[in-house]
Amino acid sequence: MEREPTDHRAPSRGSSLRPAHDGLVGAAADLLLGGDCPGCHDPGWGLCRDCATEVSRSRPRPCHRPRVAGPIWAAGEYDGIVPTLINAAKERRRWDAIAPLSRLLAGAVAGLHDDSDRGNAFSGGPLVLVPAPSSPATVRKRGLDVTAAVADGAVGWLRRVGLPARRRSVLSHRRRVADQTGLDAHERRANLDHALVARSAPRGTIVIVDDVVTTGSTLAEAIRELEAAGSTVAGAAVVADHRLR
Ligand SMILES: [Zn+2]
Repeated sequence: MEREPTDHRAPSRGSSLRPAHDGLVGAAADLLLGGDCPGCHDPGWGLCRDCATEVSRSRPRPCHRPRVAGPIWAAGEYDGIVPTLINAAKERRRWDAIAPLSRLLAGAVAGLHDDSDRGNAFSGGPLVLVPAPSSPATVRKRGLDVTAAVADGAVGWLRRVGLPARRRSVLSHRRRVADQTGLDAHERRANLDHALVARSAPRGTIVIVDDVVTTGSTLAEAIRELEAAGSTVAGAAVVADHRLR
């Protein structure tokens, strides 16, 4: 299958986004099902046309965190529709937000893959997406491992544009950690220091994936642990670049 090596936008072929709704169909759906768009709450089924357009316009770019040794690519900034979709999936069990988030993540992974300034970490082997782990308690509360689900969706997107990929959830917490929200950079680093454990060391082109990068503590810890276990990590890809102010 052909792919588009220079196009860092979210992959555009074979969209699995639910059909964009508008007009009478959306109104009927709202009447019958009480549905709304996970991005803007307009009545209808799934992501509305305007929100789907906003997702398709994302321009993945590299972002830098001093503590993370490898390259990080993000689908975009933590603004616009992105925080709403992330929050919808994580806090409101809106599984229809998973597909657009997956599309964004796939764009970031493709950007990282196509970036020429990365040494030879991408030189061979399968593309393996390793999600940053969520705690079992968080997964129970949400009803789904959202990061893993978004990674699975991204795998589908990447395969469709000719990048053989798979997900390997090999990281988990070795001890309890606090919710990073509300912690400053120093506290986040201490909270996650040696907090993760790798069950195995996957081979291939390893990319850590997560929804948001803030200080980079999670990505740095994931890379540290995987490399200690014997993997070579090519970099990280996230949906959104969120700088703490
Ligand atoms: Zn919308």
